[in-house]
Amino acid sequence: MKKTIIIKVSKENPEPDKIRIAADIIRRGGLVAFPTETVYGLGADALNPDAVKEIYAAKMRPPDNPIIVHIARKEDVYKLAVDIPKSGEKLIDIFWPGPLTLVLKASNIVPRVTTGGLDTIAIRMPKHEVALALIREAGRPIAAPSANLAGRPSPTLAEHVLQDLFGRIDAILDAGPTNIGVESTVLDLSCNPPQILRPGGVTYEDLKAVLGEVSIHPAAVAKSEVHIERTRSPGMKYKHYAPKAEMLVVEGELKSVIMKVRELAKYYIEAGKKVGILATDESMKEYNLGIVKSMGSRNNLASVARNLFKLLRELDNEGVDLIIAEGLPQENLGLAVMNRLRKAASYNIINV
Ligand code: AMP
Ligand code: MG
Repeated sequence: MKKTIIIKVSKENPEPDKIRIAADIIRRGGLVAFPTETVYGLGADALNPDAVKEIYAAKMRPPDNPIIVHIARKEDVYKLAVDIPKSGEKLIDIFWPGPLTLVLKASNIVPRVTTGGLDTIAIRMPKHEVALALIREAGRPIAAPSANLAGRPSPTLAEHVLQDLFGRIDAILDAGPTNIGVESTVLDLSCNPPQILRPGGVTYEDLKAVLGEVSIHPAAVAKSEVHIERTRSPGMKYKHYAPKAEMLVVEGELKSVIMKVRELAKYYIEAGKKVGILATDESMKEYNLGIVKSMGSRNNLASVARNLFKLLRELDNEGVDLIIAEGLPQENLGLAVMNRLRKAASYNIINV
């Protein structure tokens, strides 16, 4: 068991002495969890294969699921990736720092454990002062998947990281809640047209406006599991974001969704189950059974994205047996939110 040190740090003006402690750990090959604008990441020196192996071990992550590499200066992309297309340069110009990860051809300095054995690298520049200060001070790119145990909901608070990884990592930089709450968009630029492998903070609509043509990987919008063999985003084939409770998503027109959620909640509560309901500000008052939580407003899907993973963990902590979630529109951030909800529910979807 490792001694995990918890370092509280200012979100806007991270204290240099605190960042130095964390950066030293990274340089020595250790593991540091840190906040980004999306979720907390579990960082290690991306160029040190032994350090990156420790990430897989701490998270219990399958070895073929590659890790996103984080940089603090746009120019550093040219050291880690080769043959960057013009479209990539344009996207970097517009969306970095920010929640857009680009899949590019890896240069030969990138260890194969970091890329999960692939010849591509997934790379981004985060928009968070703590993340940027840590990368700069470490003086090297930092490989960082989400700082949760593999398969669990991603961490949006330091407490979530500690629930999963206390004693398994060297340190955590705690700067409070993350802003966006769902992970970055993963865009594959090694194919034509570029393809969204994972919807996230930068939306399909945003990308289409810049690129003209963008495709979405079928698994990213699937309503049922898509069989993935040799995939370009290996993470897509694994169980994800799953609460301990069973989960259902009810999709359709809001009125019908509310009726169905009520009916299901009543049925399972009468059968002796403890039921949690993930509703929205607009529908909260329609439910008088079960533990009801609002994900946020239907008119503000950013608020839903910010709350989602935290609510899944809260309902687990309250010991519910079943979570019933309302489906949401798939426009803009809704695509990322629905992707996470459906996966969290292992594709137990009811259409009404
Ligand atoms: P996370 O572990 O939550 O940070 O997720 C990282 C995601 O990026 C996973 O779905 C990975 O499979 C994906 N990813 C990372 N590197 C690559 C790569 N080189 N090519 C394609 N997908 C990648
Ligand atoms: Mg993850």
